Amino acid sequence: MQTEFKNLLLDGKAVDIAVEDGVIKSIDPHAGDSDPGCAPRPVAPAFYNGHTHLAMNLLRGFADDLELMPWLQEHIWPAEAHLTDEIVYHGARLAILEMIHSGTVFANDMYWFAPAVARAAEEMGVRCAVSMQTIETGGPGRNDPKNVAANKELESLPRDASARVFATLAPHAIYTVCGDTLKAIADRARAEDTFIHVHVAETLFEVETCRKEHGGLTPVAYLNGLGLLGPKTIMAHCVHLTDDDVKIIADTGAVIVENQQSNMKLVSGLFPYRRTEGCRVILGTDGASSNNSLSMFAEMKAAALCAKIESGDPTCAPAAEVLRRATRGGAQAFGLEAGEIREGAAADFIVLDPDAVQLVPGFNCASDLVYAAEPACVDTVVCAGRVLMEGGVVPGEKEIVAEARKAARRLTTH
Ligand SMILES: [Zn+2]
Repeated sequence: MQTEFKNLLLDGKAVDIAVEDGVIKSIDPHAGDSDPGCAPRPVAPAFYNGHTHLAMNLLRGFADDLELMPWLQEHIWPAEAHLTDEIVYHGARLAILEMIHSGTVFANDMYWFAPAVARAAEEMGVRCAVSMQTIETGGPGRNDPKNVAANKELESLPRDASARVFATLAPHAIYTVCGDTLKAIADRARAEDTFIHVHVAETLFEVETCRKEHGGLTPVAYLNGLGLLGPKTIMAHCVHLTDDDVKIIADTGAVIVENQQSNMKLVSGLFPYRRTEGCRVILGTDGASSNNSLSMFAEMKAAALCAKIESGDPTCAPAAEVLRRATRGGAQAFGLEAGEIREGAAADFIVLDPDAVQLVPGFNCASDLVYAAEPACVDTVVCAGRVLMEGGVVPGEKEIVAEARKAARRLTTH
């Protein structure tokens, strides 16, 4: 079936976009003008969130303004002990609703009860990489039983982005998964041609502990020695990198996900934007309890501004480059032909409200999107050719919000 999106503004011209089987079939000059008073609406690629924990939306604002380890150990992990499949499902739906409202059509998720995340993504029409997570709560080699059951359920899922919902192997981090297990996951990922999703070099503490425990190796060198780094390895954070680390990452083709807002909130550090320019870098929001939103608009602005501060150079991280990391770069990292408005690309795009005050007068679309736009500027969201939001409304959103409120109460009241 073919769907037409008419009178859209692309590179300063009014166009009509035809979509068929989830792909942009044609882009033609806007035909006819039945209503000359109607301004063309700006169209832009949708966003791809490279690292998040969707269901953590239920813990938004639950514990803020703390250091990483006390935040995790005293607040987040005790609350998460009460998670169930149903609670995660409602949390993921809330997060996906927020994603859609802010123009994001893909999330690389890592979380407990991931089959519930897969169900939510499947139902709501977004793309999602769900995690076969490993956290060794029972000691080395002993993945948490909740993960073992969930991972078994996910085994039959596809492993690549040609499926809208697919599974990754997700060892949480080097401080929660032992070396033997990391190596086994690396071997399995290669054998099963599966993406790996892992937190790397998020804090100085992680780097120093790694050096102490592993003969002076940095987290990147340690993971590389275990065979874990390759073009299908997605590494969240990567705040603290040596020049050798950067070279290893560039040589292996592993993907860095910059999570600058989370890094700022937990004072993990400023992302080394300029030093990592030879690497594949994409953007992610991290979970809503360390951000506290899933808006890629805010993430792009933080990435651009922090890169300028970190490098001492206002020409660093120009808007078009940051926008590309949040769109085309994110899609490409997962092997998806998407993230740009062209014939043959997946039909993932957003239509903006031409009257949104943040987009006026509209000299430079990339600058407007990175520095000024907000989720409220998004009118329509299309993912794989399917309209997920129109006129700023997602079908069924009242029920999604009401159920999420109840789930958050169940999670945190004990
Ligand atoms: Zn994370």
